[in-house]
Amino acid sequence: MKYNSTRGSVKGLSFEEAVCTGFASDGGMLLPESYPTITRDQLKEWAKTPSYRSLVSRIVPLYIGDEIPAHHLEDLLDKAFSTFTSPELIPLPRLKDDLVIAEMFHGQTWSFKDYAMSCVGQFLEYFLSRSKKHLTLLIATSGDTGSAAISAVRGLKWVDVVVFLPRGRCSKLQELQMTTVLEDNVHVYRADGCSDDMDDVFGKIHADAEFVKRYNIGSLNSVNWARIMVQIVHYFYIYLKMEPDGEKEVEIVVPTGGCGNITAGCIARKMGLPIKLVCAVNENDCVDKIVKEGNFVTKPTISTIAPSMDIQMPYNMERIWSVATNGNGNLVNQLMANLNQTSNIQLPGTLQNQVRSYIGSFSVKEADIKATIKRCYNDNDYILCPHTAVAVAYHYKQQSIDKNNNMARVIISTASPRKFPEALQESGVPFKSDKGVEELQAAPTRYTDLEKNEDWLQALRDKILEISEKQKAVD
Ligand SMILES: *Cc1c(COP(=O)(O)O)cnc(C)c1O
Repeated sequence: MKYNSTRGSVKGLSFEEAVCTGFASDGGMLLPESYPTITRDQLKEWAKTPSYRSLVSRIVPLYIGDEIPAHHLEDLLDKAFSTFTSPELIPLPRLKDDLVIAEMFHGQTWSFKDYAMSCVGQFLEYFLSRSKKHLTLLIATSGDTGSAAISAVRGLKWVDVVVFLPRGRCSKLQELQMTTVLEDNVHVYRADGCSDDMDDVFGKIHADAEFVKRYNIGSLNSVNWARIMVQIVHYFYIYLKMEPDGEKEVEIVVPTGGCGNITAGCIARKMGLPIKLVCAVNENDCVDKIVKEGNFVTKPTISTIAPSMDIQMPYNMERIWSVATNGNGNLVNQLMANLNQTSNIQLPGTLQNQVRSYIGSFSVKEADIKATIKRCYNDNDYILCPHTAVAVAYHYKQQSIDKNNNMARVIISTASPRKFPEALQESGVPFKSDKGVEELQAAPTRYTDLEKNEDWLQALRDKILEISEKQKAVD
């Protein structure tokens, strides 16, 4: 499989190049040049052995091609999933009022990001050890990306990871999942600022093409194609659990931030999976405005109790445009250029309809998130994380409008509630501590604090130079 940029000027990259780079050199994002189609008969066949792990082995090779031989790939995938705590990997509890939750939080850092990230860590190590090249990953996180990336690459030989987390702005447990990792290839900074301040510093590093090349700098946010690729499998798994006959449509509701997860859903649909997708967002409702009004406006972010979705620049949107228009690079290029200039664009009507044929949307206010957590707890004795509650609020609303709609609906649970005790308390439900939480709270930590008046850019550059020196000594 070859990879092209959404903006049309970069074509024919290998999977290896796609995994090891972030943005394409024309500023766009990478997507495969074609999408393999899965027929209804194939779906029925797959439904006979409906394990998540077996679907990964069926779908991921369609996009990797012969770049990782099958027996190596199986080893890498086994390693990637070896640390997961639930044998079925994605349990689907069924609750009152036809509420079905796909629990995607049984990896090391309790968010859905672990599933794809742990695979991508293994792909990177495979390619880098083969080419004997060291990679430094830079990650500015609002909470879950940093911990999932650290967990995926801790102790790997060919990768170092530098993470900036927003001190005091993510949950205490999210922070501990980063600061308690003591391996030498993990470097954590607690910066006194919001994600916009951090993005500014990281943007400056990434804009220095020569520096990026010299020190081989990459990222593991959802710009990385390989994360999207693994996430495609989630939709097939959830669908087959609900409709093993491969006939009826299933609606899948996705707590959405940067749109990486929903992009994977759009690709699953493009491959022939009969799903209807809904993006659920909090008061950072940029995506809702795009879908409902065709209006893309970038605004400052608002802090909510669902912090991993506090994003007003859903950067994977251009991938969705590309998927929905069969790769119209000129159109995507034009729209992104306009957006850069004006921070406010109106989508052409045809594109708006094309996007709507893939996704619907729903936005919810803070008070409704809390009320949803409370109702689900009262009804089921089941505790939702605040991100998942955003999507469950959609289910409760639809149920009140249309009781007779019998299309199956599944809510993707993007994180475990045990990561967000503060939000649970605000919603009036109890927080149950457990062994995992207590171990984290007792573990030794290591990090560097960055204060407002310090030069973060210089600190980051110094760290990258230090990693490079250490690497030379090893070589
Ligand atoms: C990252 C994250 C999201 C948003 O996912 P995107 O792929 O960026 O849309 C939602 N919920 C949780 C808990 C997350 O960690």
